[in-house]
Amino acid sequence: MVNFHTDIIQQLTQWLTNPCQLCLRDQSKSICDDCWSKLPWLEHGCGLCDLPMPASAAAGSLCAQCIKEKPPWNRAISALVYRAPIASLIGQFKYYRRFNHSRFLGQMLAQAVNKKYTDQPTPQLLLPVPLHWKRGLFRGFNQSAEVALELSKGLSIPLDCHCLRRIRSTPSQQGLEAKQRSRNLRKAFILKQKLAAEVRHIALIDDVMTTGATSRELCKTILKQHPSIKIDIWTIARTPKPYKQ
Ligand SMILES: [Zn+2]
Ligand SMILES: [Zn+2]
Repeated sequence: MVNFHTDIIQQLTQWLTNPCQLCLRDQSKSICDDCWSKLPWLEHGCGLCDLPMPASAAAGSLCAQCIKEKPPWNRAISALVYRAPIASLIGQFKYYRRFNHSRFLGQMLAQAVNKKYTDQPTPQLLLPVPLHWKRGLFRGFNQSAEVALELSKGLSIPLDCHCLRRIRSTPSQQGLEAKQRSRNLRKAFILKQKLAAEVRHIALIDDVMTTGATSRELCKTILKQHPSIKIDIWTIARTPKPYKQ
């Protein structure tokens, strides 16, 4: 009973005061400066898929998978490594409908974009990875679209939430091996309408990249109609190896 009351009081206090979501002490920001600086920022990643690499690896060097098979996108960037505490913040956002998290998750990705795009221009259009309508109905929102909206505002890049559609409701990718993941997603998406001719560089927005199967399938769908378009993949977090191959 004591724990039950403590929980309620703690949740009420959080709701009323909106303290830092990680240390619950600082009242000024959703993630205080101290917790922000201690997040697992992804500093050294593969030049194509941003898989975390050792700090000793030369800038722009590629992981074994990208050397074996070049992915269909131009570049992929992730703000953080998918581990504590970012994994639980993304989980709260997606599964416990903590909508306000979209603001700071979008800010984390915007910070990474500003840092990692000093050498080339940013894309002209943002496209969030679509959810099948059944999952959208169940979850009540598309987490990628919410983050993309924050990015669009923060980086002043237009957003299109309608041109991509998921036409197959596929089982959750969690726990699947890399090959099963890509089989699972075959022909799962369509591009409802062609992109404007002046759009030559786009970014797909998703919450987490694990094997890259979703991004690969979406690139295939888009490149079929726009063979020369440049596609970048932006995700909040990147799963480090080992995930199931
Ligand atoms: Zn804090
Ligand atoms: Zn790679």
